[in-house]
Amino acid sequence: MLTDRLASYLRDLKGRIIGDRWLGHYHRERLTVICYHRVWPVGDPRFAGYKPTISASPEVFAQQIDYIRERHNPISACDLARWLDGTGTLPPRPALITFDDGYRDNADIAWPILRKRNVPAVIFLATDYIGTGRAFLWDFAAYCFANCKMTSLEIPLIGATNLASESQRDAATIAWVEAAKLLPGALRDEAMATLAAALGVAMPGPDAFQHLYMDWTDVRRLSQEGVEFGGHTHTHPILTRLPLDESCAEIDVSIERLTAALGTRPRTFAYPNGSAQDFGIDHEETAKRAGISMAFSLEPGPVPLAQVRARPMAIRRIYVGERDSLPRFIAKVNGAARLGEMLHRPNRFFAVRPSENGPGLNRGRAS
Ligand SMILES: [Zn+2]
Repeated sequence: MLTDRLASYLRDLKGRIIGDRWLGHYHRERLTVICYHRVWPVGDPRFAGYKPTISASPEVFAQQIDYIRERHNPISACDLARWLDGTGTLPPRPALITFDDGYRDNADIAWPILRKRNVPAVIFLATDYIGTGRAFLWDFAAYCFANCKMTSLEIPLIGATNLASESQRDAATIAWVEAAKLLPGALRDEAMATLAAALGVAMPGPDAFQHLYMDWTDVRRLSQEGVEFGGHTHTHPILTRLPLDESCAEIDVSIERLTAALGTRPRTFAYPNGSAQDFGIDHEETAKRAGISMAFSLEPGPVPLAQVRARPMAIRRIYVGERDSLPRFIAKVNGAARLGEMLHRPNRFFAVRPSENGPGLNRGRAS
């Protein structure tokens, strides 16, 4: 793998003055924003939800954060906002840690690790899932596939499917989620009910999922402890898959709910799914009108500070998934994902505005 080769190259560089100097120079004028979803212990007996949402075990997460502390300067969203509005400066090699969706393990597992190390964090909430026990489409699918007693059947959206082994179930779950998350709102709910019926699984109640998501008490506690919360829409649709007025309402509702719960207006937002084709300039403008000053995509970073200033409503991030061992993480933080983007999509590498991505680039990735 390219990333593994690059990781070993970077490891070889470690300790060499020339390598450290080169990386120091590379990052000096760049912002590194890391995107996590969940930090979940290996072997936890509780229902784990959709496996691709697990970004790291607590041990690997702590190693990654220690690397960031060693090589970068962790900053808060407040630091970034002050730099953007000209009332503050950034340290060299600034890095911001973010989490998407609002999983409870952010509060119970990730935040204590960060707090102990004095590293700030931003959590982006899809507000309809906070304190309701309502399941995200992907966790709902994971539950249904995990509880299906059949070993092969015809499944709506994905056709004839083998479910005999755990890996076949995992692959089927990903295939169904990838197909279903492209559906607009009401059809997504219908597809979930149809899936449960097809797999012969009784519709799970909120109890099946409550341990996975934060409630508003968690959110308020973390907010008081210094975690910043941002919007991530209300029901987590892919914005460009909805009529414009509905997609803009999704942004507004999440910001209103957060404002009501915390008593202050959020200043950050992250686009669901986050690739260039998943949001548009209208969504950037809507978020800005609602008081958001920094919004984040999932196009790969790190990003030059000049680009952050030029387009603060579409700041790139580095996506971290469970496959990202420490060497892969280091490679990504040092630009491997952007290098991969340049090799695969050279025409997009220098593009600043959203444009077309090839289909399937985010397949099997949390959003
Ligand atoms: Zn998300």
